[in-house]
Amino acid sequence: MHNVIVIGGGVVGAAVANQLSHYRVRTALLEKEQELSFGVSKANSGIIHPGTQNPANSLKGRLCVEGNLLVREMSEELDLDFQEVGELIVAFDDGEVARLWQMKQEAEALGVPGLEIVSRDWLRDNEPNLNRDAVAALYAPTAGIISPYRFVYALADSAALNGVEVHTSTKVEWIERTVDSHAVGGSVFTLHTTGGEFRSRYVVNCGGLYADDISAMMGVRSIHIRPRKGEEYILDKKRRYITRHLLFPVPTPDSKGILVTRTSDGNPMIGPTAYVVDDKEDLSTTDEGLRQVLRVAQRLVPAIDPADIIAYFAGLRPATGEDFVIRSEDKAPGFVNVAGIQSPGLTAAPAIGRYVTGLLSRSGLNLPPKRRTRTRVPKTVHLFSMPTAEASELVAKDPEYGDIVCRCETVSLREVKDAIGAGATTLDGVKYRTRAGAGRCHGSFCTCRIMRVLSEETGQPVTAISKRGKGSELAVEERCDG
Ligand SMILES: Cc1cc2nc3c(=O)[nH]c(=O)nc-3n(C[C@H](O)[C@H](O)[C@H](O)COP(=O)(O)OP(=O)(O)OC[C@H]3O[C@@H](n4cnc5c(N)ncnc54)[C@H](O)[C@@H]3O)c2cc1C
Repeated sequence: MHNVIVIGGGVVGAAVANQLSHYRVRTALLEKEQELSFGVSKANSGIIHPGTQNPANSLKGRLCVEGNLLVREMSEELDLDFQEVGELIVAFDDGEVARLWQMKQEAEALGVPGLEIVSRDWLRDNEPNLNRDAVAALYAPTAGIISPYRFVYALADSAALNGVEVHTSTKVEWIERTVDSHAVGGSVFTLHTTGGEFRSRYVVNCGGLYADDISAMMGVRSIHIRPRKGEEYILDKKRRYITRHLLFPVPTPDSKGILVTRTSDGNPMIGPTAYVVDDKEDLSTTDEGLRQVLRVAQRLVPAIDPADIIAYFAGLRPATGEDFVIRSEDKAPGFVNVAGIQSPGLTAAPAIGRYVTGLLSRSGLNLPPKRRTRTRVPKTVHLFSMPTAEASELVAKDPEYGDIVCRCETVSLREVKDAIGAGATTLDGVKYRTRAGAGRCHGSFCTCRIMRVLSEETGQPVTAISKRGKGSELAVEERCDG
């Protein structure tokens, strides 16, 4: 019998599991996909928001500001690639400047630190490629960027090191609740999954786009997820220095949320759009999406050239109304819903972890802290971000660091093997952990080699190696010449 089962291995479920790993409670994290971070958490802007664009008094605003602080605190022990780059919300006329002052006031009320309205001259000195028509901006120094999937893996790896059981390919299909007045919390839940049966006294639903379906399994039907699609466009790394800060326009119905950012690995990125779709699996991009993103991005930085776009993707925000819905359900005591975690969910995740732990404790879960927690995860090597001298030392120690598998992103055989050792079983899993296959050639050069390494290291035939799990296998026969 588990004390707590967390459903959903995205950033939110991983953060909840990570927080629970500090206490002496038996916890399991269940994920339906073959690997963690294959849901919404794989496809977003990767921004650790300061908290500037949230309604005053909103739960998401409060948890965003707290999450921004917690990410910094966790950075060292979880070996996160968090980089504080600062953001500018850019105004082009007096009306927009007035709106900046209002946004500053609202953000300060939420506790966002260090805000400043900066002048046209400041912008010319500090953001040289910004449109010269910009007249002022709201500067938030605490905005940062992070690799969203590596954030999930760090949270989950640390939770696992501290005793949380992680089960992938384990889809929760239905849940039974038995009332047990002698049990803490008053309930015993039996979760029927594709990976067998689990029993637990508490269940936390972090199911992202499917949080409404999981909630309905408990008879709580008040949550309706309406996916809001965001299309994002990635530019070549050679344009890495096109901006210094994250750049947002003052929000209008056409531009809200669209920005110029860069990934933590150095590619500039523009987007995302925001429009409602019906299909929870629709990750297509559109010509209109590209046009809208370019319109807003080029107004901010006229030098952005569509010819520099090397990749694009869409993500779906799991929205239900405007705010996060995080609550213990009276209808099913012991069941906690964590739903509607749209942006800034990546930022807020560690704070959500704490918030949920508080809810569980108030519903009767005894949470004795562990005397010693081994939170520190082993440091991951990334040759692409390492000075050459340091990389040469590594190659001298282990020649597999000198065997470059992915040339675009400089990823070695050793890194690919380490990613597999850490749990990657698919091409996407290797890509998210190492960046192999994420460069300009989109894996044309390295895919076959990585498939072969995956096959050798996991003992599976090459025909079973997939892009992102069952149904996305690439090879039809046992030959792969790479
Ligand atoms: C385009 C876009 C840009 C964004 N940009 C930012 C940003 O820059 N900064 C920021 O802070 N936020 C951003 N967000 C929001 C952020 O990505 C999300 O809030 C966050 O990733 C949600 O995480 P999650 O764990 O709730 O969902 P998910 O990552 O989807 O995790 C839920 C998991 O539950 C699993 N699951 C579902 N049903 C079951 C079941 N029955 N059994 C077992 N497992 C199940 C799914 O497979 C999934 O892995 C953005 C979102 C989008 C779409």
